[in-house]
Amino acid sequence: MARHLITSAIPYINGIKHLGNLVGSQLPADLFARYMRGRGHEVLFLCSTDEHGTPAELAAAKAGKPVADYCTEMHAVQAEIARGFGLSFDYFGRSSSPQNHRLTQHFAETLYRNGLIEEVTERQVYSNADGRFLPDRYIEGTCPNCGYEKARGDQCENCTKQLDPTDLIDPRSAISGSTDLEVRETKHLYLRQSQMRQTLEDWIDSKTDWPILTTSIAKKWLNDGDGLRDRGITRDLDWGIPVRHEDGSDWPGMEGKVFYVWFDAPIEYIACAAEWAEANGLDDAAWQRWWRTDKGADDVRYTQFMGKDNVPFHTLSFPATLMGSGEPWKLVDYIKSFNYLNYDGGQFSTSQGRGVFMDQALDILPADYWRWWLLSHAPEGSDAEFTWENFQMNVNKDLADVLGNFVSRVTKFCRSKFGEAVPEGGAQGPEEAALIDTLATRIRSYERHMEAMDIRKSATELRAIWVAGNEYLQEAAPWATFKQDPDRAAMQIRLALNLIRLYAVLSAPFIPGASSRMLSSMKATDAGWPDNVEDALRALPAGHAFEVPDVLFAKITDDARAGWQERFAGKRED
Ligand SMILES: [Zn+2]
Repeated sequence: MARHLITSAIPYINGIKHLGNLVGSQLPADLFARYMRGRGHEVLFLCSTDEHGTPAELAAAKAGKPVADYCTEMHAVQAEIARGFGLSFDYFGRSSSPQNHRLTQHFAETLYRNGLIEEVTERQVYSNADGRFLPDRYIEGTCPNCGYEKARGDQCENCTKQLDPTDLIDPRSAISGSTDLEVRETKHLYLRQSQMRQTLEDWIDSKTDWPILTTSIAKKWLNDGDGLRDRGITRDLDWGIPVRHEDGSDWPGMEGKVFYVWFDAPIEYIACAAEWAEANGLDDAAWQRWWRTDKGADDVRYTQFMGKDNVPFHTLSFPATLMGSGEPWKLVDYIKSFNYLNYDGGQFSTSQGRGVFMDQALDILPADYWRWWLLSHAPEGSDAEFTWENFQMNVNKDLADVLGNFVSRVTKFCRSKFGEAVPEGGAQGPEEAALIDTLATRIRSYERHMEAMDIRKSATELRAIWVAGNEYLQEAAPWATFKQDPDRAAMQIRLALNLIRLYAVLSAPFIPGASSRMLSSMKATDAGWPDNVEDALRALPAGHAFEVPDVLFAKITDDARAGWQERFAGKRED
């Protein structure tokens, strides 16, 4: 038994994510976690909400709520949707947790002592009326490029030109509208990533099994232009983790400042384990055995899942924090990164409400429909595209015609000819031996793909396993056999009923809802992995009672498809 620490990139707190976000981190991470648990390994699967930073403050202001309340509410909303999708986190934490406050302050202090954090004096815009420094996007004014009057200090929304706050004509505070602004000197902390460049490059070079997508992005950031830059880790904001010494005392010059969200968000991976321990009444040793190599994490295999835009933080910034601390923290062993999922000829757009968002998806269809399509089309080698036609076709074919139909035909036929119990009689022949052979080969190949996190290949293999059962049933034709040789038909159906249990076990990582319905209709108590296929197909003995389940997967009609296509084309309805 191995130990697997698995984390998904943590979603930002301000709003509900779309299906492209889901398939870019949380969903494949869940697939892997479920598979590893199914194989009997010890798994700690963690995710959290990323709650700090300007966008959270702005979203809260727009909602007319204190930012802490807003984050608490949105965390609950995201947690509920995650449950709806069957995301089997051992804990869904919050980057605003006390555990993350402590750990973030600890890392800053340790890095500072190790000479990897320096204090830099900068000139920044201060608002006298608001009594605070203003981050770039809290400053508005007229764009010097196009004359747009509500350009932000970091960028003009109208002409997309990147700006400095000092470029703006008639600058004013976005908080109060005050024009009483001045440029003042202020101190910030910088993480000296440039000092860690060689260490990071050697580490990345040692990861010869990582996907090209992951290493190529890391290398680009290490070597392009001036190479890896030092980065500010503090901001003049109210909402965030205060910059203080670890013992709680003031850090001179840092009063009123918080850590920049990019610094504290990845540390939440560790803090989340501490939150998990606390929530389960466990001590510090319980989470440290996953995270500290001096406290038991030596035999942990740590896998991270994320979209390609998050790769730089996970290959460079976060490892720089961990390695720079000089403490024995567990480093990631494998980073699975994803390209983007596009939506029907364009991109998903949160601002325009273009595409399907996670809450809407669950309103119209059960999670398994989405899980199956998204995972079997995961954007691994290149960007992928969601179209309603393709979604309809795959759901109807794979889930309804192949898997659902198999379960329905077998159970209904058995009920009508033999009753609702596994029938006895008959002996297997060469056709059954051939099927078992095929299944054994395909299951071993499915395991290899799942272990390598080749998600599309895994889905293809699983589908082929379902198809093999259908082909067997078609050729064996128990409904015809029954007339001449009822014993033989009984043997065929006994095997087919056992296949339903086997399919439930193998399919659980992809479609956990349908899998558990299949297991419960088979009244199966053993959901163990089929290490030996022949044995697995004898798990339900003659006389074992079952129930005919309701339709597992309903087909998507052309009308429904056309309606959704129109509904999600743009401009989100609330
Ligand atoms: Zn402009």
